[in-house]
Amino acid sequence: VSRAVKRAIAILGAVGLVGLAGSFVYTHVQPEPLCEACHRSIHSETYFRVFLSDGSVEDVCCPRCALRFQEGRTDVTGSDVSDFETRERVDAERAFYVEDSSVAMCRHDAPLKEDRSGVQYQLTWDRCLPSLVAFSTREAAEGFRRENGGAIKTYAELKAEHVLR
Ligand SMILES: [Zn+2]
Repeated sequence: VSRAVKRAIAILGAVGLVGLAGSFVYTHVQPEPLCEACHRSIHSETYFRVFLSDGSVEDVCCPRCALRFQEGRTDVTGSDVSDFETRERVDAERAFYVEDSSVAMCRHDAPLKEDRSGVQYQLTWDRCLPSLVAFSTREAAEGFRRENGGAIKTYAELKAEHVLR
């Protein structure tokens, strides 16, 4: 095998390695999905999706963020939410919600913020509170409420509190 061929093979090998590394980075180091309202991580247990009339979707971390996001909007065509226990998608209008239980997904990783001078501070007002978790049945919501406290609400009741159409 001539030296030129060896060199060509070495170059091809190097290109291949770079390509492999690139595809690895592309497939494994995707940024984690963040809530489009509060910019924190989206938890599969409480993840809420809002469908808009232009065909786009808005993914938010919890029903509370979803309600705040929808305030004043007229272009929401539908929404669905995770069942807290089964992670199945449930039509948000038909789900049952437990408000202000001891479970608050968003609070677990409320990040320590750092301002430009390096001083750390913690958010004291949390837009995801009081917490809301959703269930596909009233029975499941009731079971959760017995263990974790809170109050059961329908989507209609929550919308009325947030002045949504
Ligand atoms: Zn959020």
